[in-house]
Amino acid sequence: MKVTDKLIAAIDKKLERFDPLWQAEHGVGGLRSRYYDKTGVAKYREWRGVKDTFYDYTQWLNNLVSMSAMIASAPIPILKGFWEYRWMGSYLGTFLFIDRLFEGYRGDELRIAHMNMHAIVQSLTKRIAFILSNDRRFGGGPETDNCIPHDETITPLFLKGFKGLHPIPMQTLPEFIICDIDQHIEPYYIDVAESFGLPADVCSRCAAETGVALDDAFPLLGRVMLSTNMPCNASEATSMFQRRRIGLPDNPITLAMQHQEKEAIPYSRKELENALAFVEEHYGVKYDWNELFKYAKLMNEQNTIELEKWDIFKTPYSPLSGIAESLYRLYSWQSVNGQDEYFNKVDRKVIEIMRRCYEEKRLPFGGKTRHRAFLWGPSAVYYTDFPTWTQNCWGITIVLNMDSTMGYNMIDTQDPDKAMDDLTAFTQRACMRHHAVGGWENINAVWDWAKNFNCDMVLMNDNIACNGMLGVHAMMEEQARDLGFHFIFIEHDLEDSRTVSRQDMRNCVNNYMSVVLNEKPLDPTLLEFDDSDAY
Ligand code: SF4
Repeated sequence: MKVTDKLIAAIDKKLERFDPLWQAEHGVGGLRSRYYDKTGVAKYREWRGVKDTFYDYTQWLNNLVSMSAMIASAPIPILKGFWEYRWMGSYLGTFLFIDRLFEGYRGDELRIAHMNMHAIVQSLTKRIAFILSNDRRFGGGPETDNCIPHDETITPLFLKGFKGLHPIPMQTLPEFIICDIDQHIEPYYIDVAESFGLPADVCSRCAAETGVALDDAFPLLGRVMLSTNMPCNASEATSMFQRRRIGLPDNPITLAMQHQEKEAIPYSRKELENALAFVEEHYGVKYDWNELFKYAKLMNEQNTIELEKWDIFKTPYSPLSGIAESLYRLYSWQSVNGQDEYFNKVDRKVIEIMRRCYEEKRLPFGGKTRHRAFLWGPSAVYYTDFPTWTQNCWGITIVLNMDSTMGYNMIDTQDPDKAMDDLTAFTQRACMRHHAVGGWENINAVWDWAKNFNCDMVLMNDNIACNGMLGVHAMMEEQARDLGFHFIFIEHDLEDSRTVSRQDMRNCVNNYMSVVLNEKPLDPTLLEFDDSDAY
């Protein structure tokens, strides 16, 4: 052992009583002890030992650098954005959000989590600066007319054959990502939608998108928009509201609902081809397959590494799990989608660490994992830091989330005809489509996924207003019993944290773990706490 290692070990020993994991083990505190009541604001940073505390702090600074670069690159548009858009203020909660996501993380788990999260931060900050610099509401910019705003559940990759044009997922900034960071932002937009007469019992995600449109809080870019019926009929309705309010020529991409069936491909393919022709007509450009293949190769690499990660997820030795896995996959697939090589670089580094951990048979989270869960959960799992909480409180590791199973097929990079079929299959399996909607078989596949990933538990988010999932509750309960899975339904109202609070969601797990399984929490400070005022 080197002298410095000895010194660090001595300091760690001396200061171990400040480590919340040590405190929980010794019954003198825990991870929640350092927070101000009701908030997600901590009184001091988490002590994780010398090396991990230092690393965590450098990553905090790294994210700060990306935020500063964003402001420096477009100071006036950013200021205008804060002035014009309520959702911009919510991004100030990003630091608190990231700190909470990775509490209790140490060693390789912490490193991988930060690599993944920083990839998102650097990408999002650049995207915010680009969008606001070209927002027509602020007078527009050099690229305003070269943007193709599209519904975020349509994959941007198939639009990358248009050299010089920029696919912009419309809802990502004002709604989809920000609802994960700030639980208080979407209720405002939901209220806006309801004050215009939208019924209160619809999916809160779609209600929030409608509210963003009615509040004139979508940045305005491009010459047309591409809306969609993805993933469900509620999104189809909000697409109609958005198209009316925004007023750009719209090409709705209506993909097949029963997308598992073979016949879906020719139908959906035609829809994508129509969209490409629509863009060609309005922008006066020609689709270039060689340009598309460049990005398809990057996406194929993303997916090749993803499939190797899945092999390691099946073992007990994966340092990547929970929120670091699911949020990253959600963003890197749905939003990046082969467009940013930075994500390929991160994937290459992460898989190296994962291979090493597997070879060394290193158990993550100090070997404290008791259950392996497959999660069937959308946005509400993020603003609640849910997978981090299940790990720290009950030792339930979230091996994989449903949205991580989005399009993982490879795309042909030589033959446009084959590539078009591949892109269609890929696009049909976008966020929420691959499992929440699309027929019984599609939903029922949860058991195969859970079995293949060696899970003993399924956590199913019961979105009380989801059109896709209403009505399956009792059938899923029955099947879980027959198949022998621990099965927990977690009630939530997606982006409306007023209906079902974070603590209500945690109580669903608390009740099952203590009453049905008779287990004791790893960290009792996490059992019951009020974080209703937190971002
Ligand atoms: S699938 Fe469910 S949660 Fe997703 S948009 Fe549709 S109704 Fe909302």
